[in-house]
Amino acid sequence: MNRVLILHYHEIWLKGGNRRYFLSRLVTAVKRELQGLPVKSLEHVWERLILSPQDEAAGPQMLERLGRVFGIAYIGMALEVGADLGELIRAARELMIEKSPRSFAVRAKIAASDFGWNSMQLEREMGREILNALQARSERVRVNLSEPEITCWVEVIPGRGFVYVDRISGAGGLPAATAGRVVTLLSGGFDSAVAAYKMMRRGAHSIFLHFHATPSPSRGSSVQVAEEIVRALTPWQFTSRLYLIPFDLAQRQIVAHAPESYRVLLYRRLMARMAREVARAEMALGLVTGDSVSQVASQTLHNLAAVDSGMDLPVYRPLAGDDKEEVLRWARRIGTYSISCQPFEDCCPRFLPRSPIIFAKAEDLIRAEARLDIEGLITQSLEAAGVVEFSYESGQVERREAVPRRLKRLLARRETTQRTIASHPLEGEVTGESRRAPVAADAKADCP
Ligand code: ATP
Ligand code: MG
Repeated sequence: MNRVLILHYHEIWLKGGNRRYFLSRLVTAVKRELQGLPVKSLEHVWERLILSPQDEAAGPQMLERLGRVFGIAYIGMALEVGADLGELIRAARELMIEKSPRSFAVRAKIAASDFGWNSMQLEREMGREILNALQARSERVRVNLSEPEITCWVEVIPGRGFVYVDRISGAGGLPAATAGRVVTLLSGGFDSAVAAYKMMRRGAHSIFLHFHATPSPSRGSSVQVAEEIVRALTPWQFTSRLYLIPFDLAQRQIVAHAPESYRVLLYRRLMARMAREVARAEMALGLVTGDSVSQVASQTLHNLAAVDSGMDLPVYRPLAGDDKEEVLRWARRIGTYSISCQPFEDCCPRFLPRSPIIFAKAEDLIRAEARLDIEGLITQSLEAAGVVEFSYESGQVERREAVPRRLKRLLARRETTQRTIASHPLEGEVTGESRRAPVAADAKADCP
């Protein structure tokens, strides 16, 4: 009896002509995730992947890594035997005696036409044998088909049988990088990290973009936090690129030249415009943000619509309908929660308006930004951008600084109307702490 892992994938996307494409991406992802671990074989047979470890001791580490492969629905830790009733029963008895449950059920899947039993017959027969074996040790064992304490899973394919009682959920979703690229606006907070993850789980490859301001000496840099988040998310998509764009200049100009109540919306609009340039350079198909409807004043439906107006690229907001609790649950699950908990200097709360507009219209924003040199700001900020690349190899995330070549090429082609922008003194600076959105402040309150 060999110990193997059975990897089941979701089947929705297997219908139609794209099946081979998705499957080959899934197999590639599994191999890449397991790089450096002792894998004897990985077979694709009868709608499942069967993974045989060279060394059983590596099983837990394999499971841990496979938990980050999008497209896997669940994994069974199975004993492999022949497609033979006696062998299946022996394996099932062994596993079930180890578990010693008070109630159990048998669930069988048969994909071998010459096996001679249908799944219901097999379940009954195996159920009877297991019950006898367990009752010989304890009278109190029962079969319970609706809520069993332990389920014994049985799978039969031509020539081979598998039995398992331990089964864990996979990451679900679609295999990495099957849907095209998106640019995620990553703030360092909880929401945008989860938003990126949710899109990655749908097969989108995320390129990250973080706007930062020069931090005050008392607080950490948001760049560090953004990097840590990207590092944590990279194992799910294997490679990541993070654009780091200074936002001081843009902020100064908005603070100096636009009505105070529109500031945050103008920041967002300018961020989206710069992100669109990065998306162009990266041939990405959309932007992703962590907005959640009405979480803060800048995210009312009116304001989101006004910020997006004129944008010729889809803006995905996968958290639009989520509340903070749901987002925090996801953040904990994917490992970004403790990173976002760190205190850091975000660029936006520094100059928050005392009374932000709640129901903005597109025309209001166009009027509010009339005195800004938008094209010049975009060009200057992007010219000052840095890029950090991450790659996941043999279970480790490697980091290297890179030259933003694609962006530079795009900028070289851009018509730069105005290259010199006066730097304005900072007037009426409102410090961020007291003005943070109440929800965000609450969310941080239970951080360690
Ligand atoms: P998050 O929403 O990520 O938790 P936050 O709550 O501090 O951060 P919001 O004010 O809710 O930020 O910002 C809304 C969205 O705008 C963010 O989810 C993110 O997509 C984008 N964003 C805000 N600040 C930045 C930034 N400094 N760099 C990149 N994107 C940002
Ligand atoms: Mg938010």
